[in-house]
Amino acid sequence: MKHTPMMRQYYELKDQYPDSILFFRLGDFYEMFGDDAKIASKVLEIALTSREAGPQGRVPMCGVPHHAAEGYIEKLIRSGYRVALCEQLEDPKQAKGVVKRDVVRVITPGTFIEGQLEAEENQFLVALAWDAKAAGLASLDMSTGEFMTVTLSRRIGASLESELTRLQPAEILVTADWPELDGVKNLADKLGAVVTKIKETQDSLAAASQVLLEHFSAATLTPFGLTSSAEILAASLALQYVQDTQRAVLSHIRSVKSYTLEQYMQIDAHSRDNLELVKTIRDEKKTGSLLGVLDNTVTGMGARLLRSYLEKPLLELEAIEARHDAVEALLDQTALRLDLEEQLREVYDLERLLGRLVAGNGNARDLKALASSLEKTPNIRSLFAKETSPLLAELTAQLDPLPEFTELVARAIVDEPAITLRDGNLIRDGYNSQLDSLRQASRGGKSWIRDLETKERERTGIKSLKVGFNRVFGYYIEVTNANSHLVPEDYQRKQTLANAERYITPELKEQEALVLGADERIKELEYELFLEIRKQVHEHIEAIQQNAKLIANLDVFQSLASAAVKHNFVRPQMSNDYALSIKQGRHPVIEAATGRFVPNDVFFDDSQQIILLTGPNMAGKSTYLRQVALLVIMAQMGSFIPAQEAAIGLVDRIFTRIGASDDLSTGQSTFMVECSETADLLLNATERSLIILDELGRGTSTYDGMAIAQAVIEHIHAKVKARTLFSTHFHELTSLEHSLRKLVSYRVEVEEKDGEIYFLHRVSRGSTDRSYGINVARMAGMPRPVIKRSLNLLEELETRGNGPRQLDLFKTLDYDTSDLEREPEAAAPSELEKELMDLDLNNVTPLEALQILTRWQQKVAKEDSDHGSN
Ligand code: ADP
Repeated sequence: MKHTPMMRQYYELKDQYPDSILFFRLGDFYEMFGDDAKIASKVLEIALTSREAGPQGRVPMCGVPHHAAEGYIEKLIRSGYRVALCEQLEDPKQAKGVVKRDVVRVITPGTFIEGQLEAEENQFLVALAWDAKAAGLASLDMSTGEFMTVTLSRRIGASLESELTRLQPAEILVTADWPELDGVKNLADKLGAVVTKIKETQDSLAAASQVLLEHFSAATLTPFGLTSSAEILAASLALQYVQDTQRAVLSHIRSVKSYTLEQYMQIDAHSRDNLELVKTIRDEKKTGSLLGVLDNTVTGMGARLLRSYLEKPLLELEAIEARHDAVEALLDQTALRLDLEEQLREVYDLERLLGRLVAGNGNARDLKALASSLEKTPNIRSLFAKETSPLLAELTAQLDPLPEFTELVARAIVDEPAITLRDGNLIRDGYNSQLDSLRQASRGGKSWIRDLETKERERTGIKSLKVGFNRVFGYYIEVTNANSHLVPEDYQRKQTLANAERYITPELKEQEALVLGADERIKELEYELFLEIRKQVHEHIEAIQQNAKLIANLDVFQSLASAAVKHNFVRPQMSNDYALSIKQGRHPVIEAATGRFVPNDVFFDDSQQIILLTGPNMAGKSTYLRQVALLVIMAQMGSFIPAQEAAIGLVDRIFTRIGASDDLSTGQSTFMVECSETADLLLNATERSLIILDELGRGTSTYDGMAIAQAVIEHIHAKVKARTLFSTHFHELTSLEHSLRKLVSYRVEVEEKDGEIYFLHRVSRGSTDRSYGINVARMAGMPRPVIKRSLNLLEELETRGNGPRQLDLFKTLDYDTSDLEREPEAAAPSELEKELMDLDLNNVTPLEALQILTRWQQKVAKEDSDHGSN
């Protein structure tokens, strides 16, 4: 038995797309066969059937209706699959033999832009390539047309991880000969991205350049400023991939921009995560992150830009100050800020609307939303007619309202257009004369038909005569059987119902043809007119993208100013100095969450380079360290900061070693991660960097840990010279103050009263010499016998005195245990407990049980009040 011609066609296509699930269009369905069907039926939870396929007998099959395909495709893509969409290329009615079919698009995680995209996030497709010296990374957001490249030449692994963490791509493209395939796969797994191997080897540089030149219709690549051949190779991989997989127009990808890592403050991937810049560690939510506090944007474009500001703090003094000026202007002029916010609220996501319209997916509502957003730009511009910051003035002056385009849309598109494009209700009356006359004809016919009922009732004397419409017979006149003797000659019977007959007349059919013909033609014409108007968008791509960027910036400044008002931030003074001083700084996220926060100072200059912070667990060491890093990042991204006043000498990189989270995905132990992160910062921090080391050495034994910690501090002091915050519970380290000139000890204060300790969260000069570990253990609810035993052991260790150096840790501990001694003996059961144990549950009725419970409750209440009055 041979394949049927259709199945032969299927297998030919499937052979070309072995890695994709082939959606094979059959009438109103997309069908899947074989393994594709098995996968899809499972992922999509749809029934698996089978179909006779020729030589191999029946093959598994499943299908989804084409009008609902988008949701199914999205589900497959989100599960990491690719979908090859195969359409019928001719009308089956007219086809001779098998209907012509072909794959019109391959949908992949990085190119799927129809689904529910997060408005606040970009969706990047990343491509990697390399040349003799460096790796190139290209990132492309199909939904907005943003296209960028960067060269990674030093610490390629670390910078790759940092960039990928920042970009959060949905899909990463590499050639099969990419040198570190496993590394990329691991990273991709961690980020939830898929890795797509596109070709066996990279193109030649000449071929790669050609791809870019052709797409951008450019004679040279110079204007794009791609700085290495690796960037050109990567950009061309990305572009070729979308050209190959998408049949859509890609004209919203207008240019590619190159940036360098050195242009922005460098923050490695772990620090980004640990500082919870854009999402929390625990549940990966924006709420609870720094972005959550800063984000008051009201447009999707603004939200995306704010995020990228936060992830790429600046290094150039002038640019940072220009942003601060803009925030200040909006902070000082409340009315202006609120007016701006109000206008921005009515601006839709220009970038994504444009992307959809250009790709040919946008409907009339998208077009309307685009135009109405552009209509807001003159208002926004006039808001800023008065004096503001230079940056705001520049941004608003560049806004281009595109009046011809918005007028065209206003004139052409109805107020509430249909979602679909082929069912009419798109174009206004008066826009096109042909459309107007068709509508007139249709209306004329319809009103003739509407009048027919009255006319015929009068003529025939049948009061119950009705004119109606159905899809099969069209318009008809209905007369009940009781009146059939009154039906005139010219009625022609068309349909018989249980108690009525339906008739037509030649005139009725004539009018009907007019109406239906006109309606049909109206829909077609409206569709054609709409496409023409939609095409106009292409003329304005650049201007619309430009507007989008400007509006995004305005929204970001509006957002930062609102955050500053809401949370009482101040403008930091920026400089290129080494000195960094923050007075009464606060942790923005904890303060926003809890409403109260104990402010603290931090200070660095030529004589104070390393701050060694001691204090018991829970005192607030980690919070203080993070706070300093966050405030520096905020200042350099252009935000105001939570402090009384601040002067910040620019920081080029932030290195952190915070928290002790095992890197389970790579199978490294806590200590290993700790050491490799520390190694990284020792090798790469500069004098301008900020280093945050939280409890370094905690991951190993006391001696090891302390030894490593001390050596690291000494190295930073002598060689690296970066401003450094170092928290530790090794109190011995505070003696380094005597040997290291630029190291200063600070402590987080606690107050002890009656064996309880109170955390004051206040940082001050000096050092702590006690751990209070047992107090904390008690507060955390460790069983009393354990606490008691620890106290005894501690005492023993102390009196032995001559033991290992470890005893130094508690050298001066004079723990007052009298309070604890007074506690009732924990090992002996209380009266209540005894009674409870003695209770024979088989011999009490429910009522008795209730009575016993009541008695106990009263007893406990009495004991409590007795204690209270003591
Ligand atoms: P450590 O690192 O010393 O163990 P943390 O920094 O984790 O302590 O802080 C412990 C708790 O104290 C956290 O819940 C934190 O929210 C709170 N905290 C820390 N610093 C402050 C502060 N300055 N004001 C108010 N609460 C604080």
